[in-house]
Amino acid sequence: ERLVSGEQYIDDQAIDAALRPKKLDDFIGQERVREQLSLVLHSALRRGRTPDHVLLSGGPGLGKTTLAMIIAAELGRPLRITSGPAIERAGDLAAVLSTLSEGEVLFLDEIHRMARPAEEMLYLAMEDFRVDVVVGKGPGATAIPLDIAPFTLVGATTRAGMLPGPLRDRFGFVAHMDFYDPAELEIIVRRSAGLLGVRIDDRAAAEVAFRSRGTPRIANRLLRRVRDFAEVRADGYVTLDLARSALDLYEVDESGLDRLDLAVLRALLTKFGGGPVGLSTLAVSVGEEPETVEVVAEPFLVRQGLLARTPRGRIATPAAWTHLGLAPPQVPGP
Ligand code: ADP
Repeated sequence: ERLVSGEQYIDDQAIDAALRPKKLDDFIGQERVREQLSLVLHSALRRGRTPDHVLLSGGPGLGKTTLAMIIAAELGRPLRITSGPAIERAGDLAAVLSTLSEGEVLFLDEIHRMARPAEEMLYLAMEDFRVDVVVGKGPGATAIPLDIAPFTLVGATTRAGMLPGPLRDRFGFVAHMDFYDPAELEIIVRRSAGLLGVRIDDRAAAEVAFRSRGTPRIANRLLRRVRDFAEVRADGYVTLDLARSALDLYEVDESGLDRLDLAVLRALLTKFGGGPVGLSTLAVSVGEEPETVEVVAEPFLVRQGLLARTPRGRIATPAAWTHLGLAPPQVPGP
């Protein structure tokens, strides 16, 4: 199990829900996204129209679902949640779209994983608030146009690059969510500690924030693990020393790299001499799917300046060698 993966686990679900900010003003960080989104929502409210469709792109655990919920709350509209993998046929999507109420917010998570025929249906729905329901098969099949209520689609994706152009173009507002700064995560950790009743020292909160891979979900998860540790090993008050010991125990290193990050980095250095190496070769060498390495591990390694993506493949930076305490290969002299 990856303690520091941004992915949501079963035991996260209830906690995620409890810790979610409910209003845009309580959403921490992502300043620009928040400001732009606030304009989109408030101008729509003022004009009494449904706002443009919104696309949120960014890694797991960065707050896409939270923002979708906030959008619905700010608009005072109900929220319907579904996801790309749940839509296997166009009919699955038609069933959702045709039962939306006026102004409803539809959150479509992992939108890049939706079935192709459904995608085409979505184009029409987003643009004209209409779906064509196909009745019958073969030459006798007819498309019956069906009006649907104006709605706002909030699409989320971890891979914006995977979205077909025509789909992307139909979003009036595209927001890219980036990793959070340690200072922002520290605010999140303190806020969560307050909500969960965890007593934590400021320096310990900063340490948890710093080791959270720039990701709020991980910050909340590490906070719980650190709390457990403090309850079992001490009186429950989380000090810096306790936080450090707990984080070491859970194999999160001082800069927040977890086991997969370190495995990828180590493979890149020791098996491929620092690269360049192709993504799939690198993924195979650590026993992971290329998508996991690309979406989960790499963005953070790139952000930390340890890995670079080049047209010839992945390469390690000099900082990567230092980070793992290894000597870079000698460059042959002239
Ligand atoms: P995603 O949908 O991108 O995977 P979520 O919206 O489910 O991520 O966020 C995961 C958890 O992180 C939520 O429980 C929420 O409490 C917390 N979180 C995310 N973004 C923020 C934020 N900006 N401020 C405070 N907490 C946040």
